[in-house]
Amino acid sequence: MGLKVLFSAPRSRWDEWRTPLTDAFSAEGLEVDLATDHPPEDVDYIVYAPNGFLSDFTPYQRCRAVFSLWAGVEAIVGNETLTMPLTRMVDPGLERGMVEYVAGHVLRHHLGIDRFLGTPQGEWEPVVPPLASDRKITVLGLGALGAACATTLAGLGFDVTGWARTQKDLPDVRCLGGAETLDQALTGAEGVVLLLPLTAETENLLDARRLALLADGAFVVNPGRGPLIDDDALLAALDSGVLSHATLDVFREEPLPKPHPFWTNPKVTVTPHIASETRPSSAAKVVAENLRRAEAGEPLLYLVDRTLGY
Ligand code: NDP
Repeated sequence: MGLKVLFSAPRSRWDEWRTPLTDAFSAEGLEVDLATDHPPEDVDYIVYAPNGFLSDFTPYQRCRAVFSLWAGVEAIVGNETLTMPLTRMVDPGLERGMVEYVAGHVLRHHLGIDRFLGTPQGEWEPVVPPLASDRKITVLGLGALGAACATTLAGLGFDVTGWARTQKDLPDVRCLGGAETLDQALTGAEGVVLLLPLTAETENLLDARRLALLADGAFVVNPGRGPLIDDDALLAALDSGVLSHATLDVFREEPLPKPHPFWTNPKVTVTPHIASETRPSSAAKVVAENLRRAEAGEPLLYLVDRTLGY
């Protein structure tokens, strides 16, 4: 009957993933019985997304690995019943989507596009934006997504600084590594893009003190996770003019509650967690490759480090 793989994700996802996953398992030469309702004691592997039915992994004694369909694993990494290896998603489609979102929103703020939207007829006010090379952008997080965004922004000509826990080496990006270099990465930045995972170390990373290090009128683009930024400090920095704008895709509570001040603040753009999404056509191949590796006893790709939380 083949390997029993449980698909644990919101019911609505089953239709879009079923065929790509089945095809990808076949392409890897794997005989897989993929279903949403295998008895726990029979399950060999789990394909997981948050908000599915699974929160207690204890009965899945046979399960040899859990493959997350999401890049961010903060909802599952601390689950004490999850004792088997956990992988996060690195997907070419997810990466391209994020690069497009970040490049688009950075260019919006850099070019001052809003100034020309809805300009009253006949108002001739020539304001020429600087070249990208005169615009300092800092990207926090240089993993699969942050590195791709940083190099794309550098390719557009921006003066890019990237920051991560460990030192990186990326073409045309000034890379800084370690907590002690964060202030340096932020000082004078005219735009900040957050692509960090949410962990104990990164929560409220962008607080009032660090926001004050940015250049006057800087903008923030956050497709990482909501709690990376102290909301009150962000609103205060927008009110005082320290920041010109914040484009936020992710929030402490999602959907963002109707009364939240982000909705009505003219200096905040809310996008509803759509910066990028795992694309079944490419991501199913990543899951299948990892399942093949698990069966062959090879190291898994994109293994989550439980102690680091990502
Ligand atoms: P990765 O795990 O590949 O990269 C994470 C990066 O953050 C790494 O460079 C890592 O450093 C760095 N980092 C982690 N902790 C720290 C720390 N304490 N100090 C400094 N740097 C740190 O993740 P991805 O690039 O794949 O994804 C990043 C995040 O984007 C996800 O966790 C998720 O929250 C978010 N996301 C949002 C989406 C959306 O639609 N809005 C879609 C997909 C993801 P190092 O390399 O040194 O380990």
